[in-house]
Amino acid sequence: MLSDSGYHSILPDELYDYLTLDRKLPEKPVMISFDDGYREQFTIAAPLLKKYGFKGVFFVTTDAIGGRRMLKKKHIRNLSDQGHIIANHTFQHLNLANLSDSALRIQVIRSAKKLKEITGKEVKYLAYPYGIYSENILLKLKEMGIRAAFILSTKRSAKYPLYTIRRIIDPGNYTAKNLYHSIHKSFK
Ligand SMILES: [Zn+2]
Repeated sequence: MLSDSGYHSILPDELYDYLTLDRKLPEKPVMISFDDGYREQFTIAAPLLKKYGFKGVFFVTTDAIGGRRMLKKKHIRNLSDQGHIIANHTFQHLNLANLSDSALRIQVIRSAKKLKEITGKEVKYLAYPYGIYSENILLKLKEMGIRAAFILSTKRSAKYPLYTIRRIIDPGNYTAKNLYHSIHKSFK
């Protein structure tokens, strides 16, 4: 549907440059993201992205790497080498809203370090586990080197819009029509 409808996939750097520097985006831009690091994102999603000429963003929870049904390091490296973006979905997928400063640091820094070890690339973007954030952690993310962060289809922070970029979920049972309408309803 995305391909047939003329969408062009964009990556977080392009979105960031658009939001901060007013750089141009391609026509009908869409960012396609995958959370948690399930192995089928490598075996099923990545070949489909390739087929349609799309690039995606993979928000990986690093404590799960190598687990049953989860991505292994070699899959993550391969996705990165193919030009997809590997991004932070924290160390253990906890609700970040209520963590102490030191616990928050562990969740964000440990995973960023691990992913950089695997891909050789800086980790600049984060998706909140469960899409949940609290205002008081947003500034701390910035201090930890995160340039922008992604929520789900809840309300953005007026004060830190770059740290509350909205996404919608395709629950996996959408028809092409469902997804098309959901995109238009959520991002008009
Ligand atoms: Zn998640």
